Amino acid sequence: MSKYEFWFVVGSQFLYGEEVLKTVETRAREMAAELSEVLPYPLVYKVTAKTNKEITDVIKEANYRDECAGIVTWCHTFSPSKMWINGFASLQKPYCHFATQYGIEIPNEEIDMDYMNLNQAAHGDREHAFIGARLRMPRKIIAGHWQDEKVRERLGTWMRVAVGAAVSKSLKVMRFGDNMREVAVTEGDKVETQIKLGWQVNTWAVGDLVKEMAKVTEAEIDALVAEYEANYDIATDNLAAIRYQAKEEIAMKKMLDAEGAMAFSNTFQDLYGMEQLPGLASQHLMAQGYGYGGEGDWKVAAMTAILKSMGEGGNGASAFMEDYTYHLVKGEEYSLGAHMLEVCPSLAADKPRIETHHLGIGMNEKDPARLVFEGKAGPAIVVSLIDMGGRMRLICQDIECVKPIMPMPNLPVARVMWRALPDLTTGLECWALCGGAHHTVLSYDVTAEMMRDWARMMDIEFVHIGKDTTPEKLEEELMIKDIAWKLKGI
Ligand code: MN
Repeated sequence: MSKYEFWFVVGSQFLYGEEVLKTVETRAREMAAELSEVLPYPLVYKVTAKTNKEITDVIKEANYRDECAGIVTWCHTFSPSKMWINGFASLQKPYCHFATQYGIEIPNEEIDMDYMNLNQAAHGDREHAFIGARLRMPRKIIAGHWQDEKVRERLGTWMRVAVGAAVSKSLKVMRFGDNMREVAVTEGDKVETQIKLGWQVNTWAVGDLVKEMAKVTEAEIDALVAEYEANYDIATDNLAAIRYQAKEEIAMKKMLDAEGAMAFSNTFQDLYGMEQLPGLASQHLMAQGYGYGGEGDWKVAAMTAILKSMGEGGNGASAFMEDYTYHLVKGEEYSLGAHMLEVCPSLAADKPRIETHHLGIGMNEKDPARLVFEGKAGPAIVVSLIDMGGRMRLICQDIECVKPIMPMPNLPVARVMWRALPDLTTGLECWALCGGAHHTVLSYDVTAEMMRDWARMMDIEFVHIGKDTTPEKLEEELMIKDIAWKLKGI
């Protein structure tokens, strides 16, 4: 992820003379350098723009450069906004309007008209904001002093989201087999998705994977099993099953990397020529940042990869998840989330165990090895992307994860327990009203605000279910959005 950077574009004009422009540039360079020390990606000072051409040129360059994941603008002085129109009209990268000011306080003794002309962000950023609104630009506005900790955190968070947009635009998803038969919510329009989100979703034969598995050497398996042993507790005598999963992982990784794919899906209904559904194999690939979706769910596979890329260090605590069972005892209502095997260990509260158990679903000839653990406690979100026919809807719900309230010693899979907001049953009613899937991405380090920003960047519908959501208000919101998105066209 270190390949990405952001460009700092500062607006001004010739009116104030050479001296003021020099000061603006010096300060902008200082701010970019200091911010780059604390932000997750470098903020690179580009230009103090005074003309339409300077702005158009820097935006053309930003569009063209893969490493530029977005632009951050600021107006130290007044920058007439008509000269931004041509550049902004062609901008294809995420855009943050940073409404800040160099100095933190108004200097009582020092302030005069010269000071005012140099330090007029309050004036310049309003002119700048008008043209963003007039052009209906998807943008993030962050206001506050650039040295304020909260402001820096918000700018850094926005950068992570913009990187998620860049990852989305170039994402390849490798499908082994099709979607699970008859399931509706995992389907979707791949052409529409590629137009909007950039994903290249294509299918590879399971037979090709089986051929690749046959080429894996014992030495390669030894090396990967050593890695498993270093990271996980081995809680099974069935070492053959672990070695088989290692073989599957190595073969899948080779195919993914050869294609440059960062996400994949498979289905228990198509394991032709394989002894086990990849469990440990998929889980360890997810731990390395690959997105995964079960039952051919390529949408959740892609979203998992994207949320991971937005997290800490470019591979955060985000994972493919499925709502399974409820605990509906009054006062302790919880959802139990898991999957038949494939839960990413980035969610684990403690060191995961490798276990082998029988798996009744699917065509498993042998008992698949899998990682078993409990999820961490703490605030999190679940995210679902669904195809509404003509447009995508992104649903995000706030949840509170807890240490599972019982040990469930006979449950042979990793598990996470949570309470949906505003409460379990109201939250369920809201989720169901939106049409949210049973498959989600669960994340501890991506927030609802980040998903809202990402949806804005990608130009798709966003629905948030949080502590203040009611089914009544949500129903109205969905009806209005339905009309708005139809009017907007595809
Ligand atoms: Mn599933």
